[in-house]
Amino acid sequence: MLLIMKFGGTSVDSIDLIGKVADRIAAQRQQEHKVVAVVSAMGKQTDRLLELAKRVSAAPPPREIDVIASTGELVSSALLAAALEARGIRAVSQSGGQAGISTDANHTAAAISAIDPAHLRKLLDAGITPVVAGYQGLSPDGDVATLGRGGSDTTAAALAAALQADECQIYTDVPGVFTTDPNACAQARMLEHIHFEEMLELASLGARILHPRSVYFAGKAKIVLRVLSSFAENPRGTRILYSMEPNMEKAPVTGIALNTEEAKITIRRLPDQPGVAAKLFGKIAEQGVNVDIIVQNIGDDKATDVSFTVNRNQTEKAAAAARSIAEQLGAGTVETDARVAKVSAVGVGMRASSGTAAKFFATLAQAGINVQMISTSEIRISVIIDENQANDAVSALHRAFGLDADHETEPTAD
Ligand code: ASP
Ligand code: MG
Repeated sequence: MLLIMKFGGTSVDSIDLIGKVADRIAAQRQQEHKVVAVVSAMGKQTDRLLELAKRVSAAPPPREIDVIASTGELVSSALLAAALEARGIRAVSQSGGQAGISTDANHTAAAISAIDPAHLRKLLDAGITPVVAGYQGLSPDGDVATLGRGGSDTTAAALAAALQADECQIYTDVPGVFTTDPNACAQARMLEHIHFEEMLELASLGARILHPRSVYFAGKAKIVLRVLSSFAENPRGTRILYSMEPNMEKAPVTGIALNTEEAKITIRRLPDQPGVAAKLFGKIAEQGVNVDIIVQNIGDDKATDVSFTVNRNQTEKAAAAARSIAEQLGAGTVETDARVAKVSAVGVGMRASSGTAAKFFATLAQAGINVQMISTSEIRISVIIDENQANDAVSALHRAFGLDADHETEPTAD
C-alpha cells in the first residue's frame, strides 16, 4: 500500500511530537507500506513568520512573504526526516519544488497547476520515505509560492492524486469531522464517514478541518481521504466517501456549519435598471474581493436595496468600492454590519427528501431567530442571522435534524 500521511502544525509542535510522528510512520514502514509524509510548520510558526514579514514593511512583496513563510515547513520536514533516519527508516526531506509541485504565480494564495511525481516515485522505489514540506510549490518563474493558509492539506491530497495513493491520511488535533462545531454546540458528534460533496461544502463554508482545495483534489482522483487524530493510539477518524454506502443514514442533513467571519454590506436605493448589478459587482471583483451571498430587494419607484456578504477582513475594501459606485449612480447610503453569522445545513440527502427547507425555517422561527439573507444549493441551505443568535441557531438545527447525540428529534411544523 502507498499511504500519504499528512501532519498538521499541532502534530509537529515539539521535538517530542515529531518523534511520535516518526514512530507512527515507522510502524507503517514496518508493515511494508510505502509512505510519503507531508508536514505543516511547527505549531504557530507560520503566524510568527508572517508577523516578521509585516515588521519590516507595511506591504512586503508577496514573493518575499512566500519565501519567508515557506521556511516553516522546510524546518519541520528536515526534522522529521532526521527523526526517521534516527529510527533506522531511510528518509529525505523535500521542498515542494523538489517534490515536483508546480503552482501558478498567485503568491500567498497560489493554486497547484501540475505535479511531476517522477522524483518521489524514484525515492519510493529505492525504499526511501520522502518527507515533503507542505503548503508550497514553484511558480512559473521558479519562485517559491505558498498555497494559502492551511494549504498543506492540499499538498497531501494533490500528491495522493498524482501518485495514485491507496489512502491519504490527514492527521490533526481533532478526532475527525463533526456534525457541527463542538465549540458552538455541546451535542456535536463525530461522523464515521461523510460524503465528498458534503465535505466540499463544509470546507468551503469555513469549517477549518480541511483546506477546500484538498477535498477537490482528492475527489477528482477519488482518493480515499481520512481525517484523524494524531493524538490517539489507533484513530479511526472520519472517512470521506464518494458514493453512499448502503448502511449510511439517509437523513437529509449531515452537518450544521457555522461561519462568523463574514460581514454584510447594504447599498440603499440603487437605480433599478439593467447593468447596475454588473457595475457594482464588477467594481468589487476588481478589488479582489470575494462576494458570498447576494440579496436584492423588490424595487419601489425605480430604486432597490442590495445586500451582500464578504469576508470580514475585506469589509473596508468592498464598502469603499460600493461607495464609489453608489456615488457614481446617485444611490443612497452604504451600511456595513460585521455582527452577522452564516449558519448552514448540509446534506446530500436533501436531494431525495422534501420539506427540509420548511423544517429549517420553522426551527429558526421557533427559536425566535430572524433571517436576514438566504442562499441555497442542491445540498445546502444557508442563512445570515445576528451573530448573537448563532449558537442558538446551530443547537436548534442540530437537534431538529436528529444530529444530537441522543438522536431525539423535536416535533416539527411539517
Ligand atoms: N503552515 C501553513 C499554515 O499555517 C500551512 C498549513 O499548516 O497547512 O497555514
Ligand atoms: Mg490545517
